[in-house]
Amino acid sequence: MADISLEIRKVIFEKYNSPDIKFTNDEIFEILQKNNTIEKSLVIDDMEKYFTELCNSGLMRNIAQNFTTQYFKLFDDIEKVKCNSCNNESPIGKSESRVCPICKAAI
Ligand SMILES: [Zn+2]
Repeated sequence: MADISLEIRKVIFEKYNSPDIKFTNDEIFEILQKNNTIEKSLVIDDMEKYFTELCNSGLMRNIAQNFTTQYFKLFDDIEKVKCNSCNNESPIGKSESRVCPICKAAI
């Protein structure tokens, strides 16, 4: 099964990569479902912990909430950073701490 918070990072990198753009948990959830990235049985509530994780890591912040819809903004642009420990390239915010989302090594 896909690492869901990493898949969320990839969607944000591809579609919402600017600190000026607002995006919602619903929009990202819809894209992940449409691309078959996540299991069909998952509901929006199951996703909350992953969005919280991405806020805690310093990638983005929650700017508003309307019922179950959460609005987010990036702190900074996202760039792809290559990890020398696991050799994967991951999307990481420019002002986020440099930790590989896959193997947790410093990069
Ligand atoms: Zn790594």
